[in-house]
Amino acid sequence: MNNNKNKKDKEYKIIKLSIMYILIAFVLIYLYQGFFGAKRETVLYSTFKEFVVQDRIKSCRVSEKYIKGIYIDKSGETRDFVTIPVKDPKLTDELIAHGVKFEGVPSADWLTNLIFGWVIPFGILFLLWFFIIKKAGASGKGLFSFGKGRYKIYSSERPNVKFNDVAGVEEAKVEVEEIIEFLRDPHRFQRLGGKMPKGVLLVGAPGTGKTLLARATAGEAEVPFISITGSAFIELFVGVGAARVRDLFAEAKKLAPSIIFIDEIDAIGRTRGASGFTTHEEREQTLNQLLAEMDGFDPSGGIVVMAATNRPEVLDPALLRPGRFDRQILVDKPDIKGREEILRLHAKKIVLGEDVDLKVIAQETPGLVGADLANIVNEAALLAARENVDKVYKKHFEEAIDRRMAGLAKKNKAMSPKEKKTVAYHESGHAVVGYLLKGVEVVHKVSIIPRGVAALGFTQQRPTEEHYLMRKSEILDKICMLFGGRAAEKIVFGDVSTGAQNDLYTATELARAVVTQFGMSDELGPVVYERERQPIFLPTPFSSKETYYSQKTSEAIDRETRKIIDYCYNKSQKLLLENRSKLDKLAQRLLEKEIVDEKELNEIMESKDDEEIKTSPYTD
Ligand code: ADP
Ligand code: MG
Ligand code: ZN
Repeated sequence: MNNNKNKKDKEYKIIKLSIMYILIAFVLIYLYQGFFGAKRETVLYSTFKEFVVQDRIKSCRVSEKYIKGIYIDKSGETRDFVTIPVKDPKLTDELIAHGVKFEGVPSADWLTNLIFGWVIPFGILFLLWFFIIKKAGASGKGLFSFGKGRYKIYSSERPNVKFNDVAGVEEAKVEVEEIIEFLRDPHRFQRLGGKMPKGVLLVGAPGTGKTLLARATAGEAEVPFISITGSAFIELFVGVGAARVRDLFAEAKKLAPSIIFIDEIDAIGRTRGASGFTTHEEREQTLNQLLAEMDGFDPSGGIVVMAATNRPEVLDPALLRPGRFDRQILVDKPDIKGREEILRLHAKKIVLGEDVDLKVIAQETPGLVGADLANIVNEAALLAARENVDKVYKKHFEEAIDRRMAGLAKKNKAMSPKEKKTVAYHESGHAVVGYLLKGVEVVHKVSIIPRGVAALGFTQQRPTEEHYLMRKSEILDKICMLFGGRAAEKIVFGDVSTGAQNDLYTATELARAVVTQFGMSDELGPVVYERERQPIFLPTPFSSKETYYSQKTSEAIDRETRKIIDYCYNKSQKLLLENRSKLDKLAQRLLEKEIVDEKELNEIMESKDDEEIKTSPYTD
């Protein structure tokens, strides 16, 4: 879950710019000095005197601090020199005697020195810097977008995007439906007793269609859509962002009923005090203003504030409090069916060849989101156009997918069919063991849609009841379930993968805690050997353990931990071997649909061995 790189981060941009600027300034000063100051040779005063005697000095200017002039070198060429004078009252006479042209220079006073040497150059440099940063901050475009004038802080439109233009995110659409109802007729909605949330936060991976869904909401409700991206708020000078928030709400009130949409809200909504550098104060002011505006407006006026983010975890908790963004809508990555719908939608704009089956394309693109799929359709059409054919054929799609996947493979996102099969069995292993054991929470959902870098699939559990205590048997069951993935891989493929690393880690930690922290081991007795020490005020990933045991005990702890691990692994393996046909059915179903819910899992687990669950023709 290492998604902490926000490329648009203005802070970094401004720092980068400043560093660049300083470097350029140094180079300029260096060149300047090279141009005017160099080539002048520094000579000893005694050498200078020799030159005078040898008649080699053409002219010079004498001040208290230096003597600068021109001399003739051995090859007869003239050269500039400078030397530091010593007390020498006879110099004037000598210069006259040798016919050197010379003049005196009044020594500059300290004020002139200060002004010309420091204040003016630095003043110019500072003004330039100020100008560059301001321009860069304001336009969001970079260094050289001068003269573009002040950009519009938000856009106000009436989108003609409809729900039909958003596919594969049915659950999110259902949730948005209520907002549309409300915006169509706020008063009627309230008379009927509906209570409107002020703020709705759309959460989901990049490219899943959050922005699109927000616009479609306005389109369906036929209300103005006043939108701004979070990063546009961030400007160098304090107070501007806050003023913009006021503008935004004022505009929305004028146009109500309306939707305010803040895209990428994490740019301003980040936890206060968590970021450093220049714009941090600005961000806080902007955020405070936003919170104040949200508290201040009356939702019965018909304004809904929507926002989108793909990093909900960095948001300031104050944003999520009741009366603010208290409703969150997950815009999830599409499953196989959703992907097919999205493809169908975008393929409407092109002419498909007879050999194209969008269902197959959906199967080949696990983990991809709406934006990726739109891109694939577009790319395929371009490839066809390049070949001068009038339809987009299968091979064009294949190539477009390859390109897209190759790009994503680097980011560890795309899975090969073989990997997909491994993940399907791995997750099925967890789910089957989880289903069979009483001590663990009910398996709610199994999925092999990759999310993020770490997790290729997941088995989600539903807590049956709140509980604060765990029995030993429950912990052991949990460890068994954690081993379900690894055991299934071993049984089915005779080989194991790295996919179980996290499971193994958690299982080992748990088993060790049984022995050292919970005092549940028979051999070592009810003794605490380790205590977790967490810093109370700073939740950091660094926690340390206090340990109280000898070398000999340490070996016993390892032995006991290993015993638990072996017991659980074997139990897990045994359960899977006994239920092999169910494991196969579930994995097969996962390969077809990518998501299997609780109901379907129960169906599969309760089916008889020879009974075929309706399967699709698609196999790997
Ligand atoms: P997000 O805001 O979640 O990053 P966008 O809404 O900007 O994603 O999506 C970018 C583009 O990808 C959209 O304009 C649309 O063409 C396409 N797209 C994304 N999701 C969907 C979807 N669910 N249905 C149809 N098209 C989609
Ligand atoms: Mg977006
Ligand atoms: Zn696992």
